Amino acid sequence: MSSSTPAQPLVHPVGSARVWGTALAVVGVLLLLTYLVAFDQGAVSRSGMYLHELMHDGRHLLGVPCH
Ligand SMILES: [Zn+2]
Repeated sequence: MSSSTPAQPLVHPVGSARVWGTALAVVGVLLLLTYLVAFDQGAVSRSGMYLHELMHDGRHLLGVPCH
């Protein structure tokens, strides 16, 4: 007969630092992506309007004013 330990729950408490850190990282990435798609007018890209042109179709798809 083997002795087994009871399974530990895989759910992290809502207030734990790991959950908050992950949530803040996800929000930061989403804000950066939103900026790059919707608001960048060439300030980030070193080669002029490269990012603006790369995200141009997505910008129009979302209805963001462009030109
Ligand atoms: Zn446009």
